[in-house]
Amino acid sequence: MWMVKSLPCNPDHKATLACHDDGVSYKCTQQIEKELECGHKVNEECHLDPKDIICNELILQKYPDCGHQRYVLCFLQSVMVCQKEACRRESGLQKQIKTDEKVLEIVGIRR
Ligand SMILES: [Zn+2]
Ligand SMILES: [Zn+2]
Ligand SMILES: [Zn+2]
Repeated sequence: MWMVKSLPCNPDHKATLACHDDGVSYKCTQQIEKELECGHKVNEECHLDPKDIICNELILQKYPDCGHQRYVLCFLQSVMVCQKEACRRESGLQKQIKTDEKVLEIVGIRR
């Protein structure tokens, strides 16, 4: 026999369950406001774990090295490489200098 029951997640969330089913393993699809680990709030299905939700909030990210700013999606904010043309070129240049130093080092040792 099927009946409408309150779910364990929230008494206001209801689902049609078999009478022996206590709803513990039921994936509640009620849209609710969830607070993610980053502090943003999104409307998602009740059963989803906040850890599994990708935050699509736009935030203004500032790069500590060069001071440039840009808007990024929240879930991408850990990627701390500035994409501005000048900075990309600069970091490429630094890499080149480092490689040259290494070559000199090796040459020095061999001498
Ligand atoms: Zn966020
Ligand atoms: Zn629920
Ligand atoms: Zn930059």
